[in-house]
Amino acid sequence: MQTKLGNLVLDRWVEGDGEGNLLTSAVTGDPVAFITSAGLEFGDILNHARTVGGANLRKLTFHERGEMLKALAKYLLEHKKEFYALSTATGATRSDSWVDIDGGISTLFVYSGKGRREMPNDHVYLDGPPEQISKNGTFTAQHIFTPKLGAAIHINAFNFPCWGMLEKLAPTLLAGVPAIVKPASSTAYLTELMVRRMNASGILPDGALQLICGSVGDLFDHLMCQDAIAFTGSKKTAELLQQHPKVISESVAFTAETDSLNSSILGPDAVPGTPEFDLYIKEVTHEMTSKAGQKCTAIRRIIAPSAIAGEVVAALSTALGQIRIGHPGNKDVDMGALASQGQRDEVRERVAELSLQADVVYGGTDDFEVIDADASKGAFFMPTLLHCEKPMTSNAVHSVEAFGPVSTVLPYDNLDEAIELSRLGEGSLVGSVITNDNDVARELVLGTAAYHGRMVVINRHCAAESTGHGSPLPHLIHGGPGRAGGGEEMGGIRGVLHYMQRTAIQGSPETLTAIGHRWIRGANQTDPGVHPFRKTFEQLEIGDTLVTDSREVTLEDIQHFAEFTGDTFYAHTDEEAAAKNPFFDGRVAHGYLIVSFAAGLFVDPDFGPVLANYGVDDLRFAQPVNYGDTLRVRLACKQKTLRAGTGYGEVRWDSEITNQDGDVVAQYDVLTLVATDEHWASVN
Ligand code: NAP
Repeated sequence: MQTKLGNLVLDRWVEGDGEGNLLTSAVTGDPVAFITSAGLEFGDILNHARTVGGANLRKLTFHERGEMLKALAKYLLEHKKEFYALSTATGATRSDSWVDIDGGISTLFVYSGKGRREMPNDHVYLDGPPEQISKNGTFTAQHIFTPKLGAAIHINAFNFPCWGMLEKLAPTLLAGVPAIVKPASSTAYLTELMVRRMNASGILPDGALQLICGSVGDLFDHLMCQDAIAFTGSKKTAELLQQHPKVISESVAFTAETDSLNSSILGPDAVPGTPEFDLYIKEVTHEMTSKAGQKCTAIRRIIAPSAIAGEVVAALSTALGQIRIGHPGNKDVDMGALASQGQRDEVRERVAELSLQADVVYGGTDDFEVIDADASKGAFFMPTLLHCEKPMTSNAVHSVEAFGPVSTVLPYDNLDEAIELSRLGEGSLVGSVITNDNDVARELVLGTAAYHGRMVVINRHCAAESTGHGSPLPHLIHGGPGRAGGGEEMGGIRGVLHYMQRTAIQGSPETLTAIGHRWIRGANQTDPGVHPFRKTFEQLEIGDTLVTDSREVTLEDIQHFAEFTGDTFYAHTDEEAAAKNPFFDGRVAHGYLIVSFAAGLFVDPDFGPVLANYGVDDLRFAQPVNYGDTLRVRLACKQKTLRAGTGYGEVRWDSEITNQDGDVVAQYDVLTLVATDEHWASVN
């Protein structure tokens, strides 16, 4: 008797009512599990996420959530053997599973790192600098992001049961928003196993993660404006869900990743015999056969110069002929099965549609060798290559997605035609260009980028380190316009912001400083009583300000600095030449001399809690400093970011250098590392 998949609802594992639908192995056809979510109270699930999960997550700072993702990733790594074992039943080879399982876990690691490096150790994320909206600066504005107060509903496709969940979960949890995951039924057993392990780890707070295996029932009827939906699957389903009355009436944020007829263009320079031609054949073969072509990013349209289209077909046919198909658990096998028999039937139908406008030039038959498995029981499909002679006037090759190891060669006569063919896909997740001619690369990228979410240009110089056409990376956006759904996921912190609300806050600088925990010019400048460099991280307060003594810049200083550093640029050394420059009246001080003098004015030299200066941000020289001018610095503690567990925190100082007339000559942020109380006490 097969088990029923569990649903994780209200922090408990429950089975749906009734027997449910049977899920079978893609390889052997054997039963794997039953799936049903019948009888679940979907309104309660949403409510639990919002009231318990959201509240728990929002207590944590971005850094604490980042630490949580890291702990989760480490925990999942410890259990990955189990995931790999079960993944075989989905038809995935070991390398397919690596993308799904290790790729998914590494997405958690990347988001953990990005959250801790690029977001504050706080609950509010500031969007850019303040906006100047009043003459005297007493009324100002700052855009902020705060977590949505609803739930994120993740509806995933069958092809990546682990990565598909984790790539959405990482930015969602980092944002501080609870998730309700609904995997595609056919491979939900692998998602369920991973969620069981995540739940058992105890790392996530109550309510942060729930799982629905099966239908989402009336969940959408309970949506509200603070919820967000991230959907991956077919365009048809996306359209259906986007038109749900609640999605419309509540303006629920909806991001969709849907079908995509991704193209790869071979540059005219990449003729047979060049490294780029070989790279192209390798890339297309890999994209057609990895995950048995069931990748939303796979190359479906091979756009190649018509003069060598025959050679492309011949080389691809040879390469595809070397792909060994069979049981994905067998080490000699290169390509496993499609996710289900139903999926195989679907791909067959799509190939039939495509072949009305294109000729099958490789594959397209059931007569092929299957290693170590029964071809009649597993969902095996032979890689199939088509060739369309008149791609500019054929619409099926640009609109019919056979979600398997299927691709079509589309010949082009000139670059304009290649661009037009790529655009005919009407929006793709990814497009690639293989060329060693950078002018061709620019023309093709500028001609087609608006139709793509990501583009990769490969040549002999970057091929060895290239992550390839079909690999979405957590650092880069994944999504695309038009047919691809119009959505955008990941892209580093951009993906986190999808689950947060941007709000423009207007008020006094002091109020906005208190809200955003970042000092704004015009806010109070507090005299800390001692030099602020004598204060530990905890003792420092935002707004603690030092106004230094002043110092004159002499001609000797400029001369000395020029000789000492070797920066003898004429503006500092040649009075006559400098005066011809439209910005200067004569010799002026070096910008770096000004910054160096500023450091000399503001530092406190003795051993103290300030451990290091690790850089400056946003350095601008506002006006020239002539010899005879007198400089003074105002240094205000602007932002503090505790690096938990390290003994220090980052302190950003707003630095403004003025001359004897009070005019600003330079401004920038000084970045320092400052010891915590504990660390400072331990070294004293
Ligand atoms: P699908 O039928 O649209 O299913 C996608 C997801 O939607 C599944 O979890 C499915 O659950 C769920 N679903 C279906 N009907 C629903 C409804 N009425 N209410 C709520 N959820 C519903 O897509 P598919 O055929 O399984 O997936 C293949 C397609 O996905 C391909 O076209 C491929 O291009 C696309 N895809 C896109 C990306 C991307 O990132 N852009 C990635 C992978 C796949 P059930 O399984 O339980 O029906």
